[in-house]
Amino acid sequence: SEEALRKTEKLAAAGRLAASIAHEINNPLESVTNLLYLLQTHPELDSMAREYVSTAQAELARVSEITQQTLRFYRQSTFPVQTQVGEVLDSVLALHHSRLGSARITVERQYDPAVALFGFSGELRQLFANLIGNAIDAMVGGGRLIVRARYGTGRSLRGGWCDGVRVTVSDTGTGMSEETQRRLFEPFYTTKDATGTGLGLWVSDEIIRKHSGTARVKSRQGEQAGTTFAIFFPKDGLNGVRATLSNDAAKEAANA
Ligand code: ADP
Ligand code: MG
Repeated sequence: SEEALRKTEKLAAAGRLAASIAHEINNPLESVTNLLYLLQTHPELDSMAREYVSTAQAELARVSEITQQTLRFYRQSTFPVQTQVGEVLDSVLALHHSRLGSARITVERQYDPAVALFGFSGELRQLFANLIGNAIDAMVGGGRLIVRARYGTGRSLRGGWCDGVRVTVSDTGTGMSEETQRRLFEPFYTTKDATGTGLGLWVSDEIIRKHSGTARVKSRQGEQAGTTFAIFFPKDGLNGVRATLSNDAAKEAANA
């Protein structure tokens, strides 16, 4: 567990590092964007050159998007805020854009853009990135990724039913064996020898708990193989946390 702790600390440090790099990259990025704009309107460019420039602009726009998102979500992650779930999912999908394309995975976004959740947006983003990353890993030969976000009812931690938000990530990937389904949330449990850490779902479980959420997993191998992760977040899931956090949040807000 000491080793596990060291790894999560490393992850947190990596998050901070990513945010400061994004910050440094932002200014030169803006000037390159402006330069490309000038270049595109230059009278001596032939049509082919103009096409190259516009491809460069489109790629650069994606880079800007990623740095903006990284900065925005990092700033928001220290205290809970009202989070647009669709925006978070969009940003995770944007981050995986090239992997989705090269693996020939089609994405179906079935989310109500109005769905909002009171939570730690940086951590929610990490959770969805883990689920979507695993789904992509499971679809080596292509497939369908279905991402849903809806208001609905589900079990509260106290046993009854309550209102909240349900986020579902489904894939048509390999599916999981029974052993994997049993051990999935264990730290360091991975079936991806060299590339896996086995930390993704362990960290995800922690984030779900922190929001008083619950996870349900369905998976099958063989014919019609695939996996679905359904996470339910009760509407008032952070209420207990909110009370203890209000001091810290006030301090953060005053410092911002
Ligand atoms: P890692 O991705 O580093 O292996 P995770 O904690 O994210 O670690 O996942 C643990 C294991 O759970 C994976 O190695 C894989 O075997 C299994 N798994 C998780 N999600 C899926 C999925 N969508 N399809 C198939 N297997 C999955
Ligand atoms: Mg993973």
